Amino acid sequence: MDWLADVIVDRVAAGLDHPFTYQIPEELSSVIQVGHWVKVPFGHGRVRGVVSRVYAGACPPGTKAIEALVRSEAVLTPALVELAQWMAERYLCFLPQAVRAMVPAPVRLDAGARAEDPWYQAVGERAGRPSLKSQIFEYCKAYGPVSRDALLARYPTASPAIRALVREGFLAVVEAPSVPAPPEGSDALPALTPEQQQACDTILAAPARSWLLEGVTGSGKTEVYLFLIQQVLRGERQALVLLPEIALTPQTVTRFRRRFGSQVAVWHSGLTEVERRRTWDDVRRGRLNVVVGARSAVFLPFPRLGIIVVDEEHEPTYKQEDHPRYHAREVALWRGQREGATVVLGSATPAIETRYAAEQGRHGHVRLTRRWGQTLPRVELVDMREELKNGNRHIFSRRLTEALGRTLSRGEQAILFLNRRGYSTFVLCRSCGQALECPDCAVSLTYHQAEERLLCHYCLKQFPVPARCPSCQSEKIRYFGAGTERVVSEVQRLFPTVRILRADRDALTRAEDYEAFYRRFYDGEADVLVGTQIIAKGMDFPRVGLVGVVAADTALHLPDYRSAERTFQLLVQAAGRSGRGRSPGVVVIQTYNPGHYAIKRAEDHDYTSFYQEELRYRWETGYPPYTELWLLLFRGADEGAVRDSAGEAATRLRALSEELEVLGPAPAPLARVRGEYRYQLLVKGRHQGRWEASLTALLKGMQEEYANLSVTRDPYFLM
Ligand code: ADP
Ligand code: ZN
Ligand code: ZN
Repeated sequence: MDWLADVIVDRVAAGLDHPFTYQIPEELSSVIQVGHWVKVPFGHGRVRGVVSRVYAGACPPGTKAIEALVRSEAVLTPALVELAQWMAERYLCFLPQAVRAMVPAPVRLDAGARAEDPWYQAVGERAGRPSLKSQIFEYCKAYGPVSRDALLARYPTASPAIRALVREGFLAVVEAPSVPAPPEGSDALPALTPEQQQACDTILAAPARSWLLEGVTGSGKTEVYLFLIQQVLRGERQALVLLPEIALTPQTVTRFRRRFGSQVAVWHSGLTEVERRRTWDDVRRGRLNVVVGARSAVFLPFPRLGIIVVDEEHEPTYKQEDHPRYHAREVALWRGQREGATVVLGSATPAIETRYAAEQGRHGHVRLTRRWGQTLPRVELVDMREELKNGNRHIFSRRLTEALGRTLSRGEQAILFLNRRGYSTFVLCRSCGQALECPDCAVSLTYHQAEERLLCHYCLKQFPVPARCPSCQSEKIRYFGAGTERVVSEVQRLFPTVRILRADRDALTRAEDYEAFYRRFYDGEADVLVGTQIIAKGMDFPRVGLVGVVAADTALHLPDYRSAERTFQLLVQAAGRSGRGRSPGVVVIQTYNPGHYAIKRAEDHDYTSFYQEELRYRWETGYPPYTELWLLLFRGADEGAVRDSAGEAATRLRALSEELEVLGPAPAPLARVRGEYRYQLLVKGRHQGRWEASLTALLKGMQEEYANLSVTRDPYFLM
């Protein structure tokens, strides 16, 4: 008998997608455990990898021995090792890709710890105009001591400003905090409302399970999280709070810091390698008990996980678009179950699949129905077809113009949304509000300018651009597409003295842009904020009296089965930005489809009715939650070859099971990107089919066979 170990080697390639067996040498036999990072001989060289299993057995001939232990402490908990295996199956990735998502690069590559830079702590309060200095000061204040390294990563030209702040006494140079300071005297818990208390009591009565916390915007979901986390900390366990990336502003983090002091760390893509490594180590050793983080924080190696909160659980940003193509909510649920932790999924507009799972009894369900201290804003729909009939061809209706004028004259602020995504232009009849749709697929047709054709991205049928609307014969067919810039110039034309801020995705890619931007509007440097959905969530502006949605229909016609759901969510979240101060707040939604259920239900803040209607549509069209979905995207420079691969794959998939429906191949909505042609297949499987295991095996095989194929389970963006 020998001691053997299975090792997942850190190399991504076809044929390496399983652990390899090694002998554990005598001197390491009492040391090596599951989760250890080791060096092993492999082929003609050496690689590193993680131990996935340790067992006694007869050593097969030719088995090589582990060479060395790279780190004395395990890099993965046993639960995470299992999780990697689950992910490889579920998301069709290679095992080492799953492991790489969990172990930060500097740990994996064992880069020696770098000599550390000075750390800075904010001192006192600092008034003054917004500037680089004020940004740096606020950042240090919100995040506690911050390393020079981290500051320079966020603000590359910060050196002179940091020097000045130190000289003026606003920043103190401090020791690198290796162990967090003991919890500070933190904020007292506010008295929960009866509804909030009830939600907490219900969850605490059955903590070892998952919960949907459905609470309207501003109902105090965050207060519920804070209360639950406090209970978890009392039980000496750890807490993880996941937020959509863009919501990770100091404002949100500050709320957790105020309650739990320096036990709180943040985790997001803006961290430097040094910070990443330090936080990861502190979590693993149990020195940090609360992490507020973006998607990838779901892989942190908590040894005593007590609760995972997924805030705004419906947000698509929880889905990783690249390998491993995981969904952080699903991973959180897996961990909660495996590690006996509470999982709380919070949203005002839960994802259809989440609410459905709650109804099926897979999550408990608690609700917050009232805003704290305020009422929900009044929502008014404006039928833009009527505007047109009455001779108004502007992008603002008379009602929105009037509301804007009144809001501004009262000295309040306004937010105008144009929730438009740039890549596809849809075609709309201005008379009846009908977007042109594929007769077979119930999705909008996309206008392809080069060929001047309308194309269905699901079934590949092509149509000429009609001169008249097929439903009402009107000739008023338009390609829809006013951008945020046009909205800005329109506001400027109507109200020449008004100060306007514009925010779209390009302008706000980095977290600090977003923060600076938030602050400028918060501080009243502008009267009107014009932006895309990037500004729709999570922000709290007490002086906003009006939210205008310039075109509610844009998301409705995306070639995506979630388009109604996204529209409803966006409208409700946008409406939620209004009425957060003293005045009750008004929301004006402009639409060509006032009768569409996504829009009508948003008008009433009626999630449940929306959910029921959407579920009926999903049932009729065979989309999730009634089916499982896979997207296969083939790419390549040679269009014929790409099309052939996709066609061949379709044939093989169709032969697998009659319970699988295979749509396509069809050109992807983004049919050509950077010179590459893209074709897609969509595979739908009814639940409880016996095809699951054989489909996984086939898809994994195909990914190795076709070099330019990527497979996404439950895709969010069909492109
Ligand atoms: P949500 O996360 O549901 O959008 P928040 O937790 O942000 O709601 O609460 C909205 C506002 O109401 C916040 O300013 C919060 O501080 C306040 N609030 C909510 N519940 C309470 C409470 N029980 N006591 C005091 N303030 C509360
Ligand atoms: Zn029409
Ligand atoms: Zn079609």
